[in-house]
Amino acid sequence: MATAKSKKLRDPSLPTAKGQCVCGAVHVEIGVPARWAWHDHAAVSRLAHAGAYATYLGCYKSRFWVTKGEAAITRFADEKAGTVRGFCAKCGTPIYYDRLRAHTMINVPRALFTTRTGREPRYHMNLDQAVDWLYAGEPLAPLKGYPGVMWERPRRKKKTVGIDDFL
Ligand SMILES: [Zn+2]
Repeated sequence: MATAKSKKLRDPSLPTAKGQCVCGAVHVEIGVPARWAWHDHAAVSRLAHAGAYATYLGCYKSRFWVTKGEAAITRFADEKAGTVRGFCAKCGTPIYYDRLRAHTMINVPRALFTTRTGREPRYHMNLDQAVDWLYAGEPLAPLKGYPGVMWERPRRKKKTVGIDDFL
């Protein structure tokens, strides 16, 4: 099985973005700018991240480095799908998503990074698998009696007009 770790030595003059998992056992670094950034609405990515969707940075493998905690990364190989997902064995944070067909590229969760990565996630993939409970920026209002909680008011159903009204 291919490994996600780049064998190339990092050029120290290359600008990078640093990321890490929740517990800090695993640190990663990518060359900036990332190749591209995208939202993945695929059901399998939704499960792997336990979120509505996953946002990835597509990076060249040669510009992705695990700088700490390589041994803490556990891998799940989905042989049928031809993918390998690496995650921190200690805290469960997804670290990368390697689609083995894409030999030179690797997908790294955007959320690992607190700094800019040189790419805005402007692309959406697998929208046909998107869930209907996805928050898509609808207007929010404060929830009375619960400071800090915002809510999405139920949409008013459009009043349907019966065909008889036109007759
Ligand atoms: Zn961790």
